[in-house]
Amino acid sequence: MTVFKKIPRLQNSWVLLFLLWGHSLNATTKAPVFLIDPGHGGDDCGARSVIKARGGEVCEKDLALEIATRVHKILRKKYDAYLTRSIDRNISLDERAQMADKVAADYFVSIHLNSHEKPHAKGLEVYFLDNHDNIAVHKIERVENKDQKGEIVVINQILADLVIERTAPISRLMAKYVHQGIVSHVKKPFGYTDRGPKAALFYVLALSKRPSILIEAGFISHPEERELLVREKFQEKFAEGIVEGLEKFLEKRPKE
Ligand SMILES: [Zn+2]
Repeated sequence: MTVFKKIPRLQNSWVLLFLLWGHSLNATTKAPVFLIDPGHGGDDCGARSVIKARGGEVCEKDLALEIATRVHKILRKKYDAYLTRSIDRNISLDERAQMADKVAADYFVSIHLNSHEKPHAKGLEVYFLDNHDNIAVHKIERVENKDQKGEIVVINQILADLVIERTAPISRLMAKYVHQGIVSHVKKPFGYTDRGPKAALFYVLALSKRPSILIEAGFISHPEERELLVREKFQEKFAEGIVEGLEKFLEKRPKE
């Protein structure tokens, strides 16, 4: 006697439907894989700033790692999430991109901090890869692209064009929601400045060959912003904002 003989007909078909639905869900949906990329590392400090009162120096690479580690810790409770580096070590832009292939990342999130010679420059920026904007081209000169030279730049420019065509709409959407998520966590509570989501040509994003964003979390050259950025409570809120944005993006992204 089979189990199904005891179940009335209508209920039986519902059970079957449920089993089929569960099966198709497993077959067509897979948990998204995130690769979180703390910028710079090892010999490459990135932007640096001296805190006179403390007699110390703040390096972009350390703050980027702090925020990225917190994002990773929250994300991995629900998703597959990896870090390009979990310690202070040298890692090239190419190696970061190769890691995206290795872990089969669906989304790449790079975390950096800004600095400017003018000490009043401040605020959060969330970049997505695009070149349909003159301002984006100026970004090539930035510190984030600095280990790319000459011919490699030209090759990567071509690669960037191809990747942009395929990924820009999704990256733009991810930038929009992550930007909103961060703003909701830090703008009012901390009076943080918002410079908005922006298009730019960052090679690490092109090299990753997948939908990606680069977050410039704030200016370590700005005294008050730097004071916030080194605080654990602020870093935690910032990381929570990124994750909230990524989850909203997952809800809203176009499904295949
Ligand atoms: Zn950087």
